[in-house]
Amino acid sequence: MFSLHGGHSSEFCDHAQSSLREMLEAAVQAGYHTFGVTEHAPRVEARFLYPNEIRLGWDVPKIVADFARYAQALSALAEEFADRLIVLKGFEIEVVPTRSYVQLMQEYRHRYEFEYMVGSVHYVDEISIDGSIEDFQRAMEAHGGLEALAVRYYQILAQMVTALRPEVVAHLDLIKLHGNQFGSLDAPVIRHAVEEALEAVREASGIIEVNTAGYRKGLGEPYPASWLVQMAHRMGIGFCFGDDSHRAEHVGFGIDKARKHLLANGVRSVTVLSRESGEVVRKTVSLD
Ligand SMILES: [Zn+2]
Ligand SMILES: [Zn+2]
Repeated sequence: MFSLHGGHSSEFCDHAQSSLREMLEAAVQAGYHTFGVTEHAPRVEARFLYPNEIRLGWDVPKIVADFARYAQALSALAEEFADRLIVLKGFEIEVVPTRSYVQLMQEYRHRYEFEYMVGSVHYVDEISIDGSIEDFQRAMEAHGGLEALAVRYYQILAQMVTALRPEVVAHLDLIKLHGNQFGSLDAPVIRHAVEEALEAVREASGIIEVNTAGYRKGLGEPYPASWLVQMAHRMGIGFCFGDDSHRAEHVGFGIDKARKHLLANGVRSVTVLSRESGEVVRKTVSLD
């Protein structure tokens, strides 16, 4: 068992609830052999602060400093846990601000010597699609409806993947978190945008994460949905697991169901990142 996306912790993330040490202990308990820790990259403009961060009185310098502390703490703990767990040092990117995120994320990767990136699209043209329903409705209005918003979401995902080449592509159909309530997300025009996004993932050798937060959030399925798994699999794209954990109880949650989700859609192996002689390597592991 492994997860390549998660380990968000309360010292470095306003909406996480366990310490980083507790997250790593939970990963050992869950029976993981590899745990990729991928804290959120800071959003560097005040307009992107989460409502909760504002309530807490946090500002941009505070979350930027937290991220630097995160990188340090993670390296120390990875070493401490090394005999029990392969702790991979990563981070989850943001696509904001639109004009500078690519350079910013590359700088973070370089400055803190992260071993890999998780590529996520939480914003469409700088409006959050992962937060409140009000923000999601604002995003729909700004783009002319659900279909146009979904198409734009996948376009931004494709651009991000091409520009940053993240090793892992997170919650591929995150747009369904709120989008499902407003209509169908497998309309032909959306499928076309998905195909182009997957083409970009294939080109960049990205691994698509099966993210179990979908179960937690009451979607009844993980990200991505079955039709997306099948499409990506037909294109030869690999999959991995991500528990997207934000507290100790999330660690390992839903991984077995995610495995069944892959098998049910014809996927018989997953791709895991590992570390050999200090280098990150990819391995293919059978699901049977
Ligand atoms: Zn989070
Ligand atoms: Zn995310």
